[in-house]
Amino acid sequence: AGTPLDGRVAVVTGASSGIGAATAERLAALGAKVAVAARRKENLDELAARITAAGGTALALPLDVTDRHAVTAAARRVAERLGRPDLVVSNAGVQLISPIEDLRVDDWQRQIDLNVTGVMNVLGAFVPHLVAAAAAGGPADLINTSSIAAARILEKFSVYSGTKAYLSHFSRLARVELGRKMVRVSAIEPGMVDTELPDHVTDPDASKLMADLLRDIECLSPADVAETIAFITVAPRHVNLSEITILPTAQA
Ligand code: NDP
Repeated sequence: AGTPLDGRVAVVTGASSGIGAATAERLAALGAKVAVAARRKENLDELAARITAAGGTALALPLDVTDRHAVTAAARRVAERLGRPDLVVSNAGVQLISPIEDLRVDDWQRQIDLNVTGVMNVLGAFVPHLVAAAAAGGPADLINTSSIAAARILEKFSVYSGTKAYLSHFSRLARVELGRKMVRVSAIEPGMVDTELPDHVTDPDASKLMADLLRDIECLSPADVAETIAFITVAPRHVNLSEITILPTAQA
């Protein structure tokens, strides 16, 4: 109840659909000013309008997180327009599953560029703000959307899983350095969430595998994951929920 995130400035990447969009709306409903980043400007404008209509404050940041300079410029813009960012949800990601021997090397590269390099670009641009926010005595959060794929053995997921394993383990190590400065670092590892994620798969067999999985069980909704992310951010400043797995009840 109330607005526990009042006074906070959040940035959510991959906010034009799915988990990111739901997270931005939830954080705004809890009182945070929210900057929403992704490539599809129309979606961001619509989301920002929805948040504003509900009484919140939103700033659309149309950008590609694989472009380091664009991310750095966006961080400056957030600080100018909304104030110092103290809550970063690094959520943009792509899942392009396929058998290794198909050699879909472009898909491999896209996943590494977005899920690894994109996340590091966001980290580089925002860590100074998070450290400054924590030094000023307020809460500061870096939340990375990893996946259960980080640890599970799932056929055809090799490169995607590799990127998410990187992200989960990186988050553990970053926490050691940043936690000491009172910046919380969290990795959230969802199971199957009903989003646009499977729509980008280029391998028809892998695409069918995803569609079958999605049909067979009641998946999580983006709002379910958003609620979990919100829970991390409203905890007292000395409490760091560092790794959270969230699964559909019926998913093995
Ligand atoms: P969506 O495909 O709906 O969301 C992905 C988001 O990333 C979109 O907003 C997309 O926007 C954005 N994005 C893609 N490329 C870029 C880019 N180059 N620069 C900036 N933004 C980009 O799927 P989800 O909501 O499911 O995915 C969100 C995260 O959740 C991902 O990291 C995914 O790996 C993770 N995840 C998802 C699970 C699921 O079952 N759905 C399970 C576990 C983890 P745009 O195209 O406009 O740029």
